[in-house]
Amino acid sequence: MTPLKNYIDGQWTASSATDSLLVVNPATAERLAQVPLSPAEEVNQAAQAAQAAFPDWRCLPPTQRVQPLFRLKFLLEENLEDIARTITTESGKTLAESRGELRRAIENVETACGIPMMMQGTYLEDVARGIDEFMIRQPLGVAAAIAPFNFPAMIPFWFMPYALACGNTYIVKPSEKVPLTMQKIFNLIDQLNLPKGVINLVNGSRETVDAILDHPTIRAISFVGSSPVARYIYSRAAAEGKRVQCQGGAKNPIIVLPDADMEMTTRIAADSAFGCAGQRCLAASVAVTVGAAGKSFADSIATAAAARKVGNGLEDDVQMGPVITPQSRDRVEQLIQTGLEEGATALVDGRQPQGLPAGNFIGPTVLQDLKPDGELAQTEIFGPVLGLMQVETIEDAIALVNRSPWGNMACLFTSSGAAARKFRYEAEAGNIGINIGVAAPMAFFPFSGWKESFFGDLHGQGSHAVEFFTQTKVVVERWPKEWSRQF
Ligand code: NAD
Repeated sequence: MTPLKNYIDGQWTASSATDSLLVVNPATAERLAQVPLSPAEEVNQAAQAAQAAFPDWRCLPPTQRVQPLFRLKFLLEENLEDIARTITTESGKTLAESRGELRRAIENVETACGIPMMMQGTYLEDVARGIDEFMIRQPLGVAAAIAPFNFPAMIPFWFMPYALACGNTYIVKPSEKVPLTMQKIFNLIDQLNLPKGVINLVNGSRETVDAILDHPTIRAISFVGSSPVARYIYSRAAAEGKRVQCQGGAKNPIIVLPDADMEMTTRIAADSAFGCAGQRCLAASVAVTVGAAGKSFADSIATAAAARKVGNGLEDDVQMGPVITPQSRDRVEQLIQTGLEEGATALVDGRQPQGLPAGNFIGPTVLQDLKPDGELAQTEIFGPVLGLMQVETIEDAIALVNRSPWGNMACLFTSSGAAARKFRYEAEAGNIGINIGVAAPMAFFPFSGWKESFFGDLHGQGSHAVEFFTQTKVVVERWPKEWSRQF
């Protein structure tokens, strides 16, 4: 197989990498492609190209910078089915999930098209007599995104459209596990006739990432991935003086109160825990039931889990695909075993599902009586496993949520407004769902992880992205009245 190409300085370029990795369809084990592990020199070429493109790109009026983004939106829509099939083929999620992911990517393009409004500064006349002061936003220069495997299309779009619209130039480093989606999307980007170097694609893994972190020209880095890597990237890039935002891992709790609509709660909780095979940073991983909710929720979620159809996401009736690699499957199976050894009971055990010989399949799994201090309760599983815990009051449930080192999302299921208000007020997580199972902020809101789920201050998407990709400049001006008398 010929290794995939990089896209540098406006053209597809063969990598000089001596190492490459196989890209494998997680549902069939079919070999799809070979991805080069691009060396530092190729990051350097991309950074130089982006730097050379920056002065002209930043001078283009914002209204003109967004024109290619409008075209990109339509190209993405026209090619939605084709890209969705690629996402499913390389990541394993179902076609419906892939389409949904791509729609989320497109929403970010649409939002970034509002940059002529969003990037505006502020102005105050007469801060002192005859003196005016204003704040303007200017782009930083070259910025880069380092993406995880679980949303091959959407996650680079939390950053890239805003970076470009604000006048920066850009480098995308996709996950080496799912590089094909960005190849498709860059084929569309190539049709936009952007000036060379404005946007670049460099494939690779750790060595490529380190070259991005250390490159003196790259001013800002957006990372999404696991928390240990997020922490590493945050520290190393910050030590180089870069602006950094790193979204990390998660272990998301949902709380079910006795007054919740159990049918709706079960449907939504099952989608949250088992959708995308649990490989979502907003997947429900623990359900904390309060009082009388315990028995009915355990019964109904076990029924829903057992009924979910697992298989190749390209098939119409399949509701859940495989996990990304055989190593991920083995790890998740081992974590289920750990939970059982810690005293949990399997209401549904999805290990080694029948009739799926190839691929990295695990069926939905529900473990009752998860031990709050056990390893399973503390570890991000990133697979289709929901642990159940029982408490007696909403206070106990919120205390459990707040003890967690993670803070990506917390959800409450209830029909009580007062309980909902208490929860959203007190829960220590940055994305809150009330009768919602995947509280994913729309493109015009920040994706607000907290605690170990986020390193930095400005998040991806919306107004935070605009702030992240611009630096403020404050001008204080005096134009004495007398000078105008000359005219
Ligand atoms: P990962 O951390 O293994 O990899 C993410 C990126 O970092 C990849 O591009 C990879 O090449 C690079 N990388 C990996 N190890 C590295 C190292 N040691 N040094 C330098 N670079 C390295 O994450 P993943 O397995 O691809 O994605 C799953 C993780 O991402 C989960 O923990 C999930 O919760 C998290 N995630 C978080 C969010 C969020 O918004 N908080 C969204 C999606 C995924």
